[in-house]
Amino acid sequence: MNPVPRLEAAEIHVVRLPLVSPFTTSFGTQTHKEAVLVCLRSDGTTGWGESTAMPDPFYSYETNTTVCQVLRLYLLPVLLAATDLTPMDAPHLFRRVRGHPMAKAAAENALWDLWARRNDVPLFAALGGMARRIPSGISIGLQDSPERLLAAVADACAAGYHRVKIKIKRGQDEALVREVRRSFPALPLMVDANADYTPADFPLLQRLDDFNLMMMEQPLAEGDLFQHARLQARLRTPVCLDESIGTLSDAEAAHALGSCRVINIKQGRVGGLQAARAIAAFGLGHGLDVWSGGMLETGIGRAVNLHLQTLPGFSLPGDTSATARYFGEDIVDRPVELDADGFIGIPPGPGSGVAIVPDRLRRFCVGHEVITP
Ligand SMILES: [Mg+2]
Repeated sequence: MNPVPRLEAAEIHVVRLPLVSPFTTSFGTQTHKEAVLVCLRSDGTTGWGESTAMPDPFYSYETNTTVCQVLRLYLLPVLLAATDLTPMDAPHLFRRVRGHPMAKAAAENALWDLWARRNDVPLFAALGGMARRIPSGISIGLQDSPERLLAAVADACAAGYHRVKIKIKRGQDEALVREVRRSFPALPLMVDANADYTPADFPLLQRLDDFNLMMMEQPLAEGDLFQHARLQARLRTPVCLDESIGTLSDAEAAHALGSCRVINIKQGRVGGLQAARAIAAFGLGHGLDVWSGGMLETGIGRAVNLHLQTLPGFSLPGDTSATARYFGEDIVDRPVELDADGFIGIPPGPGSGVAIVPDRLRRFCVGHEVITP
């Protein structure tokens, strides 16, 4: 594949899309999706990337404001100054910037898309993945009542999702899980606490072992691999780490300590597709199950997550579900749709396979800047 000789311009777009229904987790409720997009231009071809950061530093320390600043001042100028670029160069070019993986991933994703489009290959092939459909899972936020939760789970089952994840937090956990399990005894079911519990909650978390869960995602604090290892030793249910895994080294440490048996890879959280691919390969080689999480991405990030899941190592259904669950109108065509058997096809064509709809981008845009060499 040929490198990108040089970039003519980079753009930062901030979009704000209304969600079809509010999404609630242990750290708060979202009514809109606000996302930072990166567009890279070279010789009439454009590549797009999306940051998974949120407006507030609740899931991670990055925010849309820090992402824009790090892109504007550091990452995009470095890309604009480089020649003969491939996406594999991005981690090296970005190495002076500590942390800020979501900003790095947005720029790296745009370079992957641009590079694949210029070489007329689909993103999954550029990544080394297989042409295959992706089994879809669903993530259901905290609901106002147990009845609403049961109705949402019933809808997910009817739609054909391959597994259902429900969010839990302290005070909204054991009774809810019991209700869901009683109504859906054979459902592939898991819970996600988004780091809401502490070691004082071990007795409660151990009681969740009774409900035959596929896994328990991120029960404890992000930085606490030690306590996750103590918890995993007390549980039959596999622990899955999400927020705790920021790098391949984190995955290696978690495996060595016995902190988890499953990893939720969000490529945005780990700094991009190359890092995600390395963690998936580590999981495959060390008996860890791996799947791809979601951050309510627009169609740009949603397509990237689909391509990523064609790689070896992604052994469980991820959180990529139909666009219509989240958005009335997305900024790209085509929307992600579920086949009747709960699988999603990879968008066809070069790069990510999705196309920006300019009118919708304009309508949902709340910020735009152009950066030139
Ligand atoms: Mg999670």
